[in-house]
Amino acid sequence: MHFQGHLSDLLWLLAPAALLVLIWRWPIPSRTRAQQEVGVKVTDPVCRMQLDTAKAAAQVRHEGETYYFCAEGCLKQFEQNPAQYVKRA
Ligand SMILES: [Zn+2]
Repeated sequence: MHFQGHLSDLLWLLAPAALLVLIWRWPIPSRTRAQQEVGVKVTDPVCRMQLDTAKAAAQVRHEGETYYFCAEGCLKQFEQNPAQYVKRA
């Protein structure tokens, strides 16, 4: 009787400890990083591609507006003739 009581005491101590280890080692899938990387959906004014502000390769301020680009090439095209792309947006 005495031994059995002692054993269950030990189990009560081990169970939460095992659970803690399990939670601690549990692989958390990229945590909240994925959420932070999600920006606002915008349209690349040059190629009209839908993109995420957080994932844009380039951005530029033009007449008080911020424009986002999928690639440096689109930014360069925009800078050559911003008016052409702003008017279509
Ligand atoms: Zn583009």
